[in-house]
Amino acid sequence: MPPQGGIAVYGGGVFHRRVACVCCVVCACLFFPSLGAMAGFGSESLLRSLWTQGELAGNPADHVVTRPYANPADLSPPARTGPLIQLDPTSEGLRGVIRRVRIANDAKVLALTFDLCERASNRTGYRTEIVNCLREKGVAATFFAGGKWMRSHPKQTMQLMADPLFELGNHSWTHANLALTDGTETRDQVLWTQAQYELLREELARRAQARGLEAEMAAVPMSMSVFRLPYGRNAPETLQRLAAMGLPVVQWDVLGEAGAGSARNMALRAAGEVRSGSIVLMHANAVPRHTHDIVPLFVDELLHRGWRFVTVSDLLAMGKPETVQDGYFERPGDKRQFDTGYPGKGTLHPDPQAAARTGK
Ligand SMILES: [Zn+2]
Repeated sequence: MPPQGGIAVYGGGVFHRRVACVCCVVCACLFFPSLGAMAGFGSESLLRSLWTQGELAGNPADHVVTRPYANPADLSPPARTGPLIQLDPTSEGLRGVIRRVRIANDAKVLALTFDLCERASNRTGYRTEIVNCLREKGVAATFFAGGKWMRSHPKQTMQLMADPLFELGNHSWTHANLALTDGTETRDQVLWTQAQYELLREELARRAQARGLEAEMAAVPMSMSVFRLPYGRNAPETLQRLAAMGLPVVQWDVLGEAGAGSARNMALRAAGEVRSGSIVLMHANAVPRHTHDIVPLFVDELLHRGWRFVTVSDLLAMGKPETVQDGYFERPGDKRQFDTGYPGKGTLHPDPQAAARTGK
């Protein structure tokens, strides 16, 4: 992407974002002395030094969804509500709702993405089988994590952050419907999540330093640089606000968990829909519940056909995004039902019965 000014903080493969500190460049350099020397999404040696194979593999307790529809909802902010890093506004070519990237020569490249959703009213899980499968096969992916999810899953977040295969993206603080939120609420949903990422990166840096591995932190991005809309919903002003906060809005052109029948049928259906530069939507915390069965079949099928998996940021750097102005799942307008039933302005989830009906 073309330079936009500011200072280069990290490069994710060939994707380079430029940011400016909330104070000034000098201030940023004091906080982050390794600015400008970074590349990639993490460090294999850091990952393997901080956690054993067994700790990375996790266990079935990680899958559990607890406190469903807690009352009162947890609307508490993160320990720091404002991120230290502000991204430069998004360039013109990356504005809108990105659904796919057109790549020269129709190269067989795609981005596999997983949402890690968590609302104010529940605490969701983490399907370890999915992450273990990707690590075993060496498959890159982008995880769009809620800020509250990151706070309730610090270990898993830091593991994803440290892993060079994976990129973390912003999925709002409590899975708000941003078609309904006003400017203040949208900003909190987005920036609290950016701040939570920074807090956990700082904790990761402390652990790295304790092992004499502080230099490895240079490869861990300072900030998340892509955003996914909860429910795939937005208003026109949502896109303007996110562009001002420097976050390209990334959706998908392939639903990885759609259809009926066996996991193999679903995996083959999704694999058959992949085009050059496709972005595939899946979930990694049991929404839906069968994704872990689909992932290995889907990945094997595409690897067998000669496809290459990259992160969203790397995909964006490879070509020209295809965009729309109104987010949707499969067809334009198909998720507007998510705009009804919200108490408040969109941050609180609709009632449990409505959630049970939609499965979201
Ligand atoms: Zn979500």
